[in-house]
Amino acid sequence: MTSPAPRPRQVRCPQCGGLSLYSPDNPWRPFCSDRCKLIDLGQWASDAYSIPVEEPDAGMTDAFDRSGD
Ligand SMILES: [Zn+2]
Repeated sequence: MTSPAPRPRQVRCPQCGGLSLYSPDNPWRPFCSDRCKLIDLGQWASDAYSIPVEEPDAGMTDAFDRSGD
C-alpha cells in the first residue's frame, strides 16, 4: 500500500495576503511569518483596548459592594 507524500499546503496569510506554508514547519501558520502574526495580534489587542470603559461613581461602587449581602 502506497501512501502519497503529504504535500505542503499553502494558504493566504490573513495579514499580508501572501502565500503562507500551512504545515508544522511553519509555527506562525496561517500567517507567513512571525512579523505578520505579531501585527495581527497587535491589531486585535488595540481593538480590545479601544473599548471605552466607564468608571462608575464612588457611590455606585459602594452600592455594588453591599449588594452581595
Ligand atoms: Zn504575511
